[in-house]
Amino acid sequence: MDLFSHVLWTSVLGRNRLWHDEAILFALLPDAGYFLIMLYVLFGTPMNVNFADAMVTLPKGFMVIYYLLHSFVVFGVTALAVWKLKPKLLPALSAWFFHICMDIPFHDGVFGTRILYPLLPNFYIGGMSWGDYRVLAGSYFLLLATWFYLEMRELRKHRRRDNWLPDWIDRLEHAVGGLINPKPIPTAHAEGGDNARTPDRIPGEDRVGTGENQYHGPGAVPPPEAG
Ligand SMILES: [Zn+2]
Repeated sequence: MDLFSHVLWTSVLGRNRLWHDEAILFALLPDAGYFLIMLYVLFGTPMNVNFADAMVTLPKGFMVIYYLLHSFVVFGVTALAVWKLKPKLLPALSAWFFHICMDIPFHDGVFGTRILYPLLPNFYIGGMSWGDYRVLAGSYFLLLATWFYLEMRELRKHRRRDNWLPDWIDRLEHAVGGLINPKPIPTAHAEGGDNARTPDRIPGEDRVGTGENQYHGPGAVPPPEAG
């Protein structure tokens, strides 16, 4: 798919989430491989060489990077490492998985999505081109419908916050949360530790009324000692 669709889909699915920004980066990551290819086409070949001809002289390494970043094998290994080392990143990392899934049916030929690269380097399931206006129209329509559904759900949830019954999205988030963080972190009051007695006011935090936070801009009355 086009970069715009990848970013918009990730943005809609990850909106109001703490991991939203990281997810956008992971949604863009696979096409960093394509970005490198474009750099080669633009700057690595003479100006009068078109894209198709530039692809003929493209060093093999460029396509290897592109395929590796669009492979479930590479994603799986990375996800395992992230799960062990930094499980909090997993929700954001799912944007990478989602990017590969979106590309599978809509890329063909040399850019066909090699989902099992490098185990099966030539295997891909092509179909339609993402540039086909029907594909783009369908994607943007679905995007809008999904955004509308999530927005309405959020509104309903907000209105009925006292008697809201967990729906499938809540249950999914709960299940994923349990997977990522199997041991719930004990809360401060349950531990009865020192932080149960945090003072109401932290020294130096609240300066309202002491004169230090007052307006000093144009039109302000200068304090008497300033002359
Ligand atoms: Zn891609």
